[in-house]
Amino acid sequence: MDLRVRALETLLVRKGYVDPAAIDRLIETYEVQVGPHNGARVVARAWADPAYADWLARDATAAIASLGYSGRQGEHMVAVFNTADTHYMVVCTLCSCYPWPVLGLPPVWYKSAAYRSRAVMAPRAVLADFGVTLPADIQVRVWDSTAEVRYLVIPQRPGGTDGWSEDRLASLVTRDSMIGTGLAQAPAVAAP
Ligand code: FE
Repeated sequence: MDLRVRALETLLVRKGYVDPAAIDRLIETYEVQVGPHNGARVVARAWADPAYADWLARDATAAIASLGYSGRQGEHMVAVFNTADTHYMVVCTLCSCYPWPVLGLPPVWYKSAAYRSRAVMAPRAVLADFGVTLPADIQVRVWDSTAEVRYLVIPQRPGGTDGWSEDRLASLVTRDSMIGTGLAQAPAVAAP
């Protein structure tokens, strides 16, 4: 794979179709600037500020953009809030649609045929694979991304976090908890 990628890159550069500096810039953007730490800030704000959470529920695209996160693959955002009765999970059954501005690029498993099919057919089994076992009375709902709409799961705020700053709260928010294949970390786990 490595050789094939390098051969392809060499050809594209030689023919002048791509600029290596532009590619480097793109890679750096998604390695450093854009990633799940952005989504974690959105979740932390929603936990800390009920007015923001309300805005996020009504117009996620605008509420997220207000924190500086917008652009490709995030033009039409929908935030789904986990509750005591309902757990949400996100998949793209067709391919790999994913909210880049808040989560970065999708993990390999998100794009796999196994996840894309099993998330719909057997969501609880998928959750178990991720080490998440939910009580039977919690409903699991799976959202299938479309070519336009991208979902962000707002996990439930862990107990024992009263009075925490947004920075501290954000440290509990994992990537998987915003896809719905995980839960936010409990304070004890996140403590140094
Ligand atoms: Fe897709």
